Amino acid sequence: MSAERSVPDPAHEVASVERAGTPKVICDACPVLCQISEGRTGACDRWGNFNGVLTRVDPVVLFTKVAATTGELTGFVESEGWDGNPLPDAPVFVTGVGSGTTYPDYKPAPFIVSSQHAGVDMVTVVTEGIFSYCSFKVKIDTDRWLGPEQAHVRCHGEVVGHVSTAEYGSQMLSLGGVHHITGGSKKEGRVTVEMMLALGNKQSVELAIEGGSTVRVQAGRAPVVDGVEERRMRVGCGSATVGIFAQQFKDVVDEVVVVDDHITGVLTEHQAGRCLDMRPAGLKVRGRKSTPGRYFQVANPGTGWGGTDIADPMTIVESWDPDLAWPGLRLLMVSTTGEHAQYFVLDAQRVPQPQPMPSDVQRVVERIGENCEPSLATVLFVGGAGGSLRAGVTENPVQLTRAIKSALVNVTCGGAPAYVWPGGGITVMVDVSRMPDMSFGTVPTPAIVAPIEFTMALDNYRDLGGHMRFVRPLSEVLARGAWHHDGAPTARRFIASQASNPWPIGQGPLLG
Ligand code: SF4
Repeated sequence: MSAERSVPDPAHEVASVERAGTPKVICDACPVLCQISEGRTGACDRWGNFNGVLTRVDPVVLFTKVAATTGELTGFVESEGWDGNPLPDAPVFVTGVGSGTTYPDYKPAPFIVSSQHAGVDMVTVVTEGIFSYCSFKVKIDTDRWLGPEQAHVRCHGEVVGHVSTAEYGSQMLSLGGVHHITGGSKKEGRVTVEMMLALGNKQSVELAIEGGSTVRVQAGRAPVVDGVEERRMRVGCGSATVGIFAQQFKDVVDEVVVVDDHITGVLTEHQAGRCLDMRPAGLKVRGRKSTPGRYFQVANPGTGWGGTDIADPMTIVESWDPDLAWPGLRLLMVSTTGEHAQYFVLDAQRVPQPQPMPSDVQRVVERIGENCEPSLATVLFVGGAGGSLRAGVTENPVQLTRAIKSALVNVTCGGAPAYVWPGGGITVMVDVSRMPDMSFGTVPTPAIVAPIEFTMALDNYRDLGGHMRFVRPLSEVLARGAWHHDGAPTARRFIASQASNPWPIGQGPLLG
């Protein structure tokens, strides 16, 4: 391949002003246009004036390749900085973290790096995008009810998102987004962006849900609901739990009720109990019957047994059929995580009396707990990259969108694989846990700054109208820094790639 030497266009050179005899540089990396004095940084602390040169303060983060291991996460390991000569042995990937930006959008991306993969000339276009259209989708593994769907989520008193549709075993929040960042008061925008910055950078955030709970979330950590750390994600709904453990229940009890805010299961009435020829126990629970042995709405949602508001399981038992129930009947009431469980035996009047739980019943309850996965909070960043930052990649932005939809381009965020939503635009979604620490930044417009990289075959880059004049081999990028720093090396930090992340170059069906 032949990569042309970059020749910065004078139109891209940084402007400077002089006020009261003090020279300043004007940062044009976002619309705020800070005028920065020598030795100082701008409003976002991301750019500074050092020796009269506008400089990205944070080092650009580069990955060195580590072999995939058994699948175990190795995390990001700081490696020694590179002294400029010679090149590291391991392949290197330039991430968008700390790279700088294409704003005001006509500029080519700060790094357009050529490389080879399996004999194919490749290129990676690297930038930091400034996103006002972006949000975080937060999955909180708990069956506890956090608040009504659509309820406002507040941070420091400001509305920063809402409760979204619950998923299996998890409550979902949608946080941030353009309407909170730019569509409300100045304070709402500032608090929203600060909350998003913390979440993206894997820090902890406390959120208050209107009409519900207070929850503390941090990517990859157990959520804390109303001050109590969640430990177990439910094994399944009440019906599923009845089905999964039916064989084990059958040998040690006569009836089981698995209490669940979604579907409460009653074993002997449930299909699983019938298939095992269990004797009907005549127990009737409250709520709306869905199908035999499966009941909706046995109680109100809450933080008690199985995500309901009950503390005493007997409150959901409506009646016993005297023709079916028998004295001495052994009943287990248990929640979907096994955290709540109580054992009863019917007395001569067929009234359930609490009894110490026999060890063989206890073992099944423990088995339910054993099958629960640890509760985690998962934080996904969703950003719209379909706008102006495409101009940093190509002179004809729609070509980039089409190439991504045709699987010719691998999109990563800080080297982490990004899911690109179908349909129009380039809406990416990425798990922040797979990105380097402190990948996100902000600018006071307000907006979120996030890294993004586009990797493709060099021929495809040429075809989509790429900025070929600015393609440079890795060695030159390492020696001379971002093109707009031409001649002034960019500060850099090497880290080992996360072993569970695919190496960003060469991914995708058409990328070799
Ligand atoms: S706030 Fe904007 S203009 Fe000011 S230093 Fe940061 S990126 Fe540059």
